[in-house]
Amino acid sequence: MKRILCALLALVILLTVSSCKLYTPKQYDRGEADAKLIVHFIDVGQGDSVLLESDDEFVLIDAGERGYGDAVSSYINERGADELKYVIATHPHTDHMGGMRTVLNDIAAENFITVETDCATSTWIKLLKTVEEKKINYIDAKSGDTYTFGSASFTILAPNSDSYDNYNNYSVVTKVTCGDISFMLTGDAEKESEYEMVRSGVDLHADVLKCGHHGSSTSTTAKFLKAVDPSYAVISCGKDNDYGHPHKETMQKLNTLGTTILRTDQMGTIVAYTDGRELSFSATNDNLPSEIGNTENKNSSALTAEYIGNKNSHVFHLPDCSGVKNMNEKNKVNFDSREEAVEAGYHPCSSCNP
Ligand SMILES: [Zn+2]
Ligand SMILES: [Zn+2]
Repeated sequence: MKRILCALLALVILLTVSSCKLYTPKQYDRGEADAKLIVHFIDVGQGDSVLLESDDEFVLIDAGERGYGDAVSSYINERGADELKYVIATHPHTDHMGGMRTVLNDIAAENFITVETDCATSTWIKLLKTVEEKKINYIDAKSGDTYTFGSASFTILAPNSDSYDNYNNYSVVTKVTCGDISFMLTGDAEKESEYEMVRSGVDLHADVLKCGHHGSSTSTTAKFLKAVDPSYAVISCGKDNDYGHPHKETMQKLNTLGTTILRTDQMGTIVAYTDGRELSFSATNDNLPSEIGNTENKNSSALTAEYIGNKNSHVFHLPDCSGVKNMNEKNKVNFDSREEAVEAGYHPCSSCNP
């Protein structure tokens, strides 16, 4: 009997090692048992909250709106965390930091990482006060700095400027790495910050991208997406939210790239597991997309620009509009932004409405 068990075990190990396919949701427990890094995209409606876990060390990035503070707190408790090694407030918008004070009142934290802005809202001031009162070590996020937790680490990739006209661009962007697997967590970073990251020349590739700003068209630019080239994209947004997130431009770009899209508004809390070599996912609603595990249709070369214009007609389109598919290669002109296209005298296509 023992021999049969050993043989079975060897077979399981062999299958795991030799197969590049991902675990299906049913193998969820196995994913958890082998995981060296677990990334929880906690469903906080229209907002962000990501819990990182490695060898019983925890990092919390954002905590949703104030009303979600208790839910985030109990989620962390259920994971058996009695302390958070790092807490990151990506930027001072309430859909990210509103629930954080509740969490810090419930769970001990060692370090608090954020970026200084001129924000003076009462929610933000109270949060900073709590950090001070609880004697949590305050760290000013600096691009390039790396922090470790368990057998994983995260590197801060943004912000890269001192001032922006929008708090979203101040977002602390982290790339979390465990072995060969990495996650790009961008807060609400928009085009400006994404372009700075691309220009910086750092390795932006990640297996999983949490799309910036809840899938808004102001983020996930073609340039950035091409550099990250993720197999999976997580979009954290609320069901039927007022902003129409995720925007169709983002969905189209992800589809062009062949990225599997995982959405908290459809799947609830999404959890990613990795042993440093492979990835698996589970979700509260357990309705993972059917194509999960099939990333063979990836086509990053198809992602050329944000907008594509026709030199003859002076009409510009979204990259996956049928108007682009039928366009002669030599008539194509690329634009990084809508403004750039309009300034060049191009008109938006009436069918894809770019
Ligand atoms: Zn924001
Ligand atoms: Zn946000």
